Amino acid sequence: MPYTIYTDVCEGVADCIPVCPVECIELVEEPKNAKGTAYAYVKWDICIDCGACLAACPIEGAVADEQIEDVQKIPA
Ligand code: SF4
Ligand code: SF4
Repeated sequence: MPYTIYTDVCEGVADCIPVCPVECIELVEEPKNAKGTAYAYVKWDICIDCGACLAACPIEGAVADEQIEDVQKIPA
């Protein structure tokens, strides 16, 4: 099951992006999230469930090890 980034917990640090082996994490600069920062999201159709993003993220609670539909905003 793919991982999920809580859009409004993420602070856009982006430590997750270079460690993802399949380049499935995208950084969104605009619009900002509820914290007023950039944020990232996981492309669920590409994620291979490796856990590297969760291990790299410095923000507690920003990454979940399962697919959660409502917490990850994906820009249109
Ligand atoms: S999920 Fe964590 S490491 Fe990735 S951009 Fe958000 S805060 Fe940064
Ligand atoms: S679990 Fe692995 S493949 Fe999925 S987004 Fe995180 S680093 Fe990328």
